[in-house]
Amino acid sequence: MRCFYSDTFVLPLPEGHRFPMAKYSGLRRRLLDEGIVSAADLHEAPRAGWDDLHLVHTVEYTTAVAEGTLSREAQRRIGFPWSAQMVERARRSVGATIAASAAALQHGCAANLAGGTHHAFADRGEGYCVFNDVAVAARVLQRDHGVRQAAIVDCDVHQGNGTAAIFAGDPSVFTLSLHGARNYPFRKEASDLDVELEDGTADEPYLARLAHSLEETLNRQRPEVIFYLAGADPYEGDRLGRLKLTMAGLQQRDELVLGRCRAAGLPVVITMSGGYAHDVNAIVTIHANTIRAAQLCNASAS
Ligand SMILES: [Zn+2]
Repeated sequence: MRCFYSDTFVLPLPEGHRFPMAKYSGLRRRLLDEGIVSAADLHEAPRAGWDDLHLVHTVEYTTAVAEGTLSREAQRRIGFPWSAQMVERARRSVGATIAASAAALQHGCAANLAGGTHHAFADRGEGYCVFNDVAVAARVLQRDHGVRQAAIVDCDVHQGNGTAAIFAGDPSVFTLSLHGARNYPFRKEASDLDVELEDGTADEPYLARLAHSLEETLNRQRPEVIFYLAGADPYEGDRLGRLKLTMAGLQQRDELVLGRCRAAGLPVVITMSGGYAHDVNAIVTIHANTIRAAQLCNASAS
């Protein structure tokens, strides 16, 4: 399975910043060390073109990002101080999801070892998200690969508010978000299907709601491809998430989504999304488990 990485493009952050930059290189190392992915399957992310980004984002916004003219307020909302490296990393991360999308159409499944930046809107970024990689990749598939309908299965603990707003009123891209009702963002957007979970929701009720909403998604729209945001932050050890999924529960979540897509013969594009456990190793384990589940799923299908 092809995996695209952008961890070589590091974002300079002030001391004590809570964004877990180390998880990205840690994940790539772990996948290699445990033999989950071979070196030949790891590809450096290409840079997304401005024309691709403009399928979703406004020229005003991308220009402000490119030229470093984002207001102080706009940078505060994103949560990163502007730097040329920030621009490069954001473009590479979108490029990784675009590349993974094309690979998934060809091979059934592929992954971006970052991405899932679902809080980015057409005209602004927020919550550590500069550009919306999945939204851009969905538009690129529609423009270049004859895909008409896509669905986004967002299992990050935070609502995919940017994604919901971008595709509001557009039946060609179905948005499903399962998230903590009391988690950021506090003003939620309307996805096509929102599943709001109470604080402390554990494995069993989560998996039941996921299975049900997955069926509803496949029934309400006939997607030709699925984007899966496999956030590590519904984990019980997460600092920001208010849910209580165990590591085993998160594995079952991955198996449920990936297995259902394989059964339906749908290509899957996997992105990592958030994860803020104190222990970076735990975040890496959760993400590595997702890639392992995808490999097993591919193997059992072929
Ligand atoms: Zn999140």
